[in-house]
Amino acid sequence: MYRFAGSTMGTQYTVKVVGLPAAVLPTALSKDIVRLLGGVDAKMSTYRSDSELSRFNDNRTTQWFPVSQEMVRVVDEALKVSEITLGAFDITVGPLVNLWGFGPTMRPDRVPAELEIESELARVGSRHVHTREMPPALRKDLEGIYIDLSAIAKGYAVDKVADHLEGLGISNYMIEVGGELRLKGYNTHGVSWKIAVERPSPDMRAIHSVIQPGDKGVATSGDYRNYFEQEGKRFSHTIDPRSGRPIDHRLASVTIIADTAMYADAMATALMVIGPDEGYNLAERHKLAAFFVSRSVNGFTERATEAFSRYFMVDD
Ligand code: FAD
Repeated sequence: MYRFAGSTMGTQYTVKVVGLPAAVLPTALSKDIVRLLGGVDAKMSTYRSDSELSRFNDNRTTQWFPVSQEMVRVVDEALKVSEITLGAFDITVGPLVNLWGFGPTMRPDRVPAELEIESELARVGSRHVHTREMPPALRKDLEGIYIDLSAIAKGYAVDKVADHLEGLGISNYMIEVGGELRLKGYNTHGVSWKIAVERPSPDMRAIHSVIQPGDKGVATSGDYRNYFEQEGKRFSHTIDPRSGRPIDHRLASVTIIADTAMYADAMATALMVIGPDEGYNLAERHKLAAFFVSRSVNGFTERATEAFSRYFMVDD
């Protein structure tokens, strides 16, 4: 097995490959992976002022703004998930993410004033973003629209690496970037990859359950890693675009299994916004493979949709 690992997009990546075709050199493949992940960072980061996305965000006109084909593809997928989730997933939520201190302009953890929230809410809404295929471009209806792709672009990056590996004839791999995954084929034991779903507790890493997704994308969103507490209340980095505030319910994490890591990544965040009951009903309605872990008085309760249940590992 070959293992490639490093840092990217403010997090870590790991790529495991079982069985490298003779024509593929590990050193060359390692460089390919760095290049592909770096390419997504250069296009879709709000942490880099020179990225394609930052240049679009800084552009204060409502004219068509030329971007790459990839950017149009990711924004189109984000708008699709936004529609399915009735606006719970919303990439224009960036100003609120930054206001609450979870964006690139790291700020002291404090609860913003009501007026600040209202003013940023006025420039949020996926309906104000439009894409054009040829020539590829984005357009905003409001000059202040600011897009944050943190909840979908890592999943896209995982899919990009997966496409590259398959183009090289590699058929057994596990790719992970910051918790978003794509799996194919078998691990070194000749069985399909097993993935641990983490117990969503902030103070320790523990396994909640083990799943065997097969050739799929997997993503988990949670409120137990990236948050701050004030007067005993937790404020997480997942923002409800309808209220302008961090989510405030008992759902601790959602894991999605889907054909692509990009869709799983966005949908996991969306269901985190919607919450445990409405989120579960939407997931069942759309036959999504979703697993919900909620806080309860004595720990956690869990609920898996019918489409997810088949992936739980049965003890050998
Ligand atoms: P997820 O649930 O996958 O995403 C939550 C994030 O999505 C929030 O942090 C917020 O940004 C956004 N969000 C919140 N609410 C909503 C909503 N309702 N709808 C849509 N989106 C929402 N981090 C760094 O510290 N340094 C970096 O240099 C850096 N570079 C990055 C470059 C790229 C291209 C990307 C995509 C991200 C980068 N990040 C960076 C951010 C980091 O990698 C993670 O994306 C971030 O911590 C959230 O990912 P997650 O999986 O933890 O949570």
